[in-house]
Amino acid sequence: MIPFTEKLPEKINRLSELAHNLWWSWTPEARELFRRLDYQLWRQTQHNPVQMLKILDTNRLQQIANDAAFVRLYNKVMIKFDREMQNGSSWFSVQYPELTQKTIAYFSFEFGLHNSLPIYSGGLGILSGDHAKETSDLGLPFIGIGFMYPQGYFRQRVPSHGWQEAAYQQLDMTEAPILPVLDENGHEKLISVGLGGRQVYARLWSIQVGRNPLFLLDTDVNENDPWDRELSARLYSGDSEMRIRQEIMLGIGGIRALRSLGIYPSVYHMNEGHSAFLLLECIREKVAEGLTFEEASNFVRQQSVFTTHTPVPAGHDAFGFHMIDQYFAGFWDQMGISREQFLNLGGHEEQWGMAFNMTVLALRLSGQSNGVSQLHGQVSRKMWQEVWPHKSVNEVPISAITNGVHVPSWISSEMSQLYAKYLGPDWRERHDDPVLWERMLDIPAEELWAVHVELKRKMISFLREHVRRRWIDGRNDPTQVLTGGTILDPDALTIGFARRFATYKRATLIFRDFERLKRIMLDTYRPVQIIFAGKAHPADDPGKRLIQDVYNLAKNSELGGRVAFIEDYNMHMARYLVQGVDLWLNTPRRPREASGTSGMKAVLNGVPNLSILDGWWAEGYNGANGWAIGSETNFDSLDAQDWHDANSTYQLLEDEIVPLYYGRDHDNVPRGWVEIMRETIRSNAAQFSMRRMVKEYTNEMYVNAMNNR
Ligand SMILES: *Cc1c(COP(=O)(O)O)cnc(C)c1O
Repeated sequence: MIPFTEKLPEKINRLSELAHNLWWSWTPEARELFRRLDYQLWRQTQHNPVQMLKILDTNRLQQIANDAAFVRLYNKVMIKFDREMQNGSSWFSVQYPELTQKTIAYFSFEFGLHNSLPIYSGGLGILSGDHAKETSDLGLPFIGIGFMYPQGYFRQRVPSHGWQEAAYQQLDMTEAPILPVLDENGHEKLISVGLGGRQVYARLWSIQVGRNPLFLLDTDVNENDPWDRELSARLYSGDSEMRIRQEIMLGIGGIRALRSLGIYPSVYHMNEGHSAFLLLECIREKVAEGLTFEEASNFVRQQSVFTTHTPVPAGHDAFGFHMIDQYFAGFWDQMGISREQFLNLGGHEEQWGMAFNMTVLALRLSGQSNGVSQLHGQVSRKMWQEVWPHKSVNEVPISAITNGVHVPSWISSEMSQLYAKYLGPDWRERHDDPVLWERMLDIPAEELWAVHVELKRKMISFLREHVRRRWIDGRNDPTQVLTGGTILDPDALTIGFARRFATYKRATLIFRDFERLKRIMLDTYRPVQIIFAGKAHPADDPGKRLIQDVYNLAKNSELGGRVAFIEDYNMHMARYLVQGVDLWLNTPRRPREASGTSGMKAVLNGVPNLSILDGWWAEGYNGANGWAIGSETNFDSLDAQDWHDANSTYQLLEDEIVPLYYGRDHDNVPRGWVEIMRETIRSNAAQFSMRRMVKEYTNEMYVNAMNNR
């Protein structure tokens, strides 16, 4: 039984079912329905309908059920919902009717689905969440496997000294769109995994993402010792001991969860190496059925797809052999191999010695592997050539599928309405067709600009409310009210920079030459301002130092309040920023940005990129749809590289960007700038959509694996 259903009046009694399927979050009519349910609560809960239904009392719900217009919209939404939840005419079932009974299992440490589920930290999680949503839209038979972290990822506070503080909150499971998975007798379904001599148990939660379920493991159950209960408490915390235990739980526990539900997928897709232990469990199962190790590993290879995300050697998880002994002694017997053969599956020379590397394991036992942009594919082939010592770099079997973003999740409703008007009411169904976007030329400059100005106004008002809430709650002092963006100028050219604060992303690059930047920002007639947001990993002190630097710059009166740092970045805030700023800045140290996706979200909303030619932008930039910082040459010294890239940024701002933005016609529309906006959308919207990406995974990888079964 779905919670709150019993208190809903008959006429709207499926509202909770709708709130418990994230389909609502990317469907404009359904969003409108919940907005109308109670606009104040909608804002107060940061768009969380489950929490809204929990708060609303029966009187108020009865009142709403008597509102004829609301009930009409409700009926319309439910008809659409029921129609879209059927698989009949989906893209996948039309393309591959013979494969609709197969299943793809997708394993990821994090899923960025909605703000009410803080089980993501950054780009990797957003990618998984967007992937899950798009597979639903396209009708792929897809199941996600991950963790339900009861405390999730941390909430960020940046006090007046600027050093990030992390606060963990216990998630109230009754205020999130998740449900426990129960067995026939109504008890929680439990699975277990042996971890270093003990059985550790996990219960399962499910999240409905359109047509597809996600199953999430949670070790916070009575059957476990206190230490084991904490295993899945938080995302990315703890040492390598905690990490290997989590990864065993995700990989091996994840397979057991599927089996406990009677699910035997044809494809196992590992999003990053965290879940690669699943390969070992699948081999063990086959050996138990009587296959040899060779036969079993060939079988497993045919069904396994692996996506690597990290172009930096130290970014790949590796565990000392003593840990492997501790957790896998005996497991290799069940796989029909010796300890030595087992260690060889992941053996890799790390900076600190030989270790068991999760990426090496995944590459060895997956039939199909890929990187997440063309450049990242090249880098990965070079990095992992040692796994195929007899192949040249170009022959290394790691392909590339460039990331994308789920268009319905990241588009603003204002821009969406404009597209409906000029590209056609069916633009959403056709959004990965480049031909559709040729019609961008039909949109009058004044209209495109007017929509952008409205989105910018909404963003500024969102930021003010964000600060006001914190001010009222007594969490901020007056300086933080200022640094939080309250004196931003809605008419000034506004640059956005929001993402994880990892050092390679060089958040402070633009401050290299303080005086030059100051001149640009404080120009009397043509001012420029920058909005920053993002969290540093709780163990990343250099990342936290960057936040402190930005915070201090925001506080520095010399910059006149033209720099803001917004606390506690999350998906909700990300939507406002990528939709409302004028220009999206990205300054990674090439080639470390495997793909990057926030710039793609900006593109959809007509916000041009000013970015290093790294990751997706090396493919997306065409000379007329935004700006490329620096060149594709790499300098030997980091310092020289930074100066080169910073100078290039200033020059672009001074010579091209600022003049274009402020080049207004009599009606105050910057027509030159609007041309760039238009070209940004026209050239990149289809190509960097999640739809294009999921179709590539399907046609190039999933279908191969399915046909093997
Ligand atoms: C899109 C997104 C990211 C990824 O940003 P990149 O610039 O691609 O690193 C990180 N965090 C949130 C909340 C996002 O929405």
